[in-house]
Amino acid sequence: MPSVAIAGAGLVGALNACFFAQKGWDVSVYEFRKDIRTMKHVQGRSINLALSQRGKSALEAVGLKEYIVNQGVPLYARLVHNKDGKTYSRQPYGKPGEHIVSINRRHLNEVMITQAEKSPNVKFFFEHKVKSVDYDKKQLVVQCTSQPSRIPTFGTKSPPAEHEEFHVEADLIIACDGAYSAVRRSLMTIPRFDFSQEYIEHGYVELNIMANNNEFAFEENVFHLWPRGHFTLIALANRDKTFTVTIFAPFTEFEKHMSTTEEVLSFFEENFPDAYLLLGKEHIADTFNRVKPQSLVSIKCSPHSFFNNLVLMGDAAHAMVPFYGQGMNCGFEDCLVFSETLEEQNNDIASAVQVYSERRVNDAHTINDLAMYNYEELKDLVNKNSYKLRKKFDGF
Ligand code: FAD
Repeated sequence: MPSVAIAGAGLVGALNACFFAQKGWDVSVYEFRKDIRTMKHVQGRSINLALSQRGKSALEAVGLKEYIVNQGVPLYARLVHNKDGKTYSRQPYGKPGEHIVSINRRHLNEVMITQAEKSPNVKFFFEHKVKSVDYDKKQLVVQCTSQPSRIPTFGTKSPPAEHEEFHVEADLIIACDGAYSAVRRSLMTIPRFDFSQEYIEHGYVELNIMANNNEFAFEENVFHLWPRGHFTLIALANRDKTFTVTIFAPFTEFEKHMSTTEEVLSFFEENFPDAYLLLGKEHIADTFNRVKPQSLVSIKCSPHSFFNNLVLMGDAAHAMVPFYGQGMNCGFEDCLVFSETLEEQNNDIASAVQVYSERRVNDAHTINDLAMYNYEELKDLVNKNSYKLRKKFDGF
């Protein structure tokens, strides 16, 4: 059977491992972090994510859709909270019954790793950092960062010593090592490799609304939105009856109006009065004392394939701002499209990687642009007549 080496066991790397496990390939996944299933606290981005049709189709192909969807909270509409803290407007996502799903990131990642690992031909190498790609040999260069005793062996190879760099040879290499991909970085000097990166002026901070007497503090089956012009607050429900609440605002706004406890409390009270009451003063103050706003980056590159045996997928290929809720969904679709392309090309890896890139680059750029457009939409346009008019005439 052919072999595939995957850089990164995040959402897209873990799903790719499931796809290749299903095909019966030899799969090795190199992940910088410890095994998240053994960690008490996992640092990282958003606690929950909106799973949409793109992502569901990919999960369905590996037999995980039903289980994952049942672990989430369906969201049927946006609920826009007005500044008075009392009135709302509701904007359905589609026809009655159509919905996206709020999913816990960590749980989703863990389920996919466990699913892939059920196949004896799949091995995850945690605490292994992908350093670069060796152009001449077309291999991944990996460094082991853990104690030798914790490293699983693969095939007949003995485990490398701590901090030792080694080369990974595989028929196919897939880089799913995220927005700051080490694999992509090491390809930058390849002639005609286009790359662009844009940080938006907004950053984000995540907070939580706790369950109220073991019940959701407000309606759970909607995407809560507090659009306030150049900043916005959103909330998505979790299965444990909490809400993950995220404020997106320009870094200058955080600095000017949320740099002391008094400032941040009065900012929330004035702009999001209903959320302010449910979040609670202590929690808002504590979060802003502990956490700095995180930045948001948008990345485009072309091509997505190299050397006849390497592809970039997920955020490594197309990190996007989160306002369209499509970063993970689009990364999941990458896995599905690549799997289908391989089958269509009769498992000829060289032609599959080339055809995949030709198919995928324009789609990735487009969804990236739509995400940027939705940034304007969520923070502002949902409140404007232009939105209501477009809704009326375009019927969306
Ligand atoms: P990542 O999730 O970043 O995973 C990369 C993995 O590679 C990580 O495990 C990392 O540890 C590992 N890694 C990194 N470098 C190395 C290395 N050198 N060697 C080995 N391993 C390495 N998307 C949606 O579809 N819906 C949403 O609702 C949504 N909400 C979001 C909200 C926020 C606030 C943000 C920031 C993003 C959101 N996204 C959403 C986007 C989504 O988080 C990403 O698109 C998704 O995580 C991409 O998955 P990935 O596997 O490509 O990258």
